[in-house]
Amino acid sequence: MMPIPVATIQPRREAAATSGTARRHGWAKRPARPSMADAHRAPCVSLVDHGRAGGQGLAADGLDGALLSLDMLVTPSHFVPLHAPQPGAHEHIFVFRGGALLVRESDLALPDESACLALDVPLAQSRAVGMLGQHYCRAAWVEAGAADPAGGFAFRPLRSLFGALDAHLMAVAGRAFQVAEWARTHRYCGACGGPMEALAGERCMRCTRCGHAAYPRISPAMMVLVKKGDAILLARNAASPTGRFSALAGFLEAGESVEDAVHREVHEEVGLRVHDLRYFGSQSWPFPHSLMIAFTAQWAGGEISADPREIAEARWFGPGDTLPEFPAGISIAGELIRANLPRAAA
Ligand SMILES: [Zn+2]
Repeated sequence: MMPIPVATIQPRREAAATSGTARRHGWAKRPARPSMADAHRAPCVSLVDHGRAGGQGLAADGLDGALLSLDMLVTPSHFVPLHAPQPGAHEHIFVFRGGALLVRESDLALPDESACLALDVPLAQSRAVGMLGQHYCRAAWVEAGAADPAGGFAFRPLRSLFGALDAHLMAVAGRAFQVAEWARTHRYCGACGGPMEALAGERCMRCTRCGHAAYPRISPAMMVLVKKGDAILLARNAASPTGRFSALAGFLEAGESVEDAVHREVHEEVGLRVHDLRYFGSQSWPFPHSLMIAFTAQWAGGEISADPREIAEARWFGPGDTLPEFPAGISIAGELIRANLPRAAA
């Protein structure tokens, strides 16, 4: 699905400065704790008690770097997803080795077909991504052990290209990476081991032996900034190498709604109850295949009791408090926090 430009969906008074998000996985399983869950009713939702088991957590955290453009990682409106090759069109070829993109070192240009062939990139297994204006975008990959390229090309970590690569190309590169990773890791059936083939007309790999179908994996995660009066709750994740404070975040468990995940993670990580969830925005994050869905919520009860396995420190920051370092511009976490700063600090 097309990412929705955050700027177009935010509440009017929550104008954002930047976009993007990064996170680190906590993965620790936690014991079950009672939680609360919302009915699906936006933007204001009533509370319904129900118990939940613990699950995968993650910390919202930003990347180092200067403020970047609002549309970072949001594919532009003139991008059209495609499932079929478009021979003869001008091309953008995104070639990956792991999480690194092949670019010309001198100017970060993408390789054309002849450069790919000279570098032994197996273009036969490339996949259509879409049209960016008049350019057909396709994704290809080389194996993880492939040698460093010659001819002035290099594999650069995709994350390192934030702010360096054209913002539209960067957004499409994020899509291309997810398509390439999905295709690379679904060449054989997970059920019977048979060879998979790409179906025409949809983004689907199907087993030629048993018919098992596989679609690109998208891992939803929620982020929530809890508010109490004029104060906001920021937490520092125990696993964060930056030590920055951020909003709470966590991956959804199978079977739960995004609202369920908000209530569960808030209660698991800091022992609070919240209500009045309000949607803030969402963003695809291709490292490797997350979709972050961000909310604000109002404190509804409880005292902060941080789970030390996940949270090193969590506290309220109100008007007049010195704000800690929080995620930089390309993070939706930073965008969420900046749009909800304690009034006196805004
Ligand atoms: Zn199979």
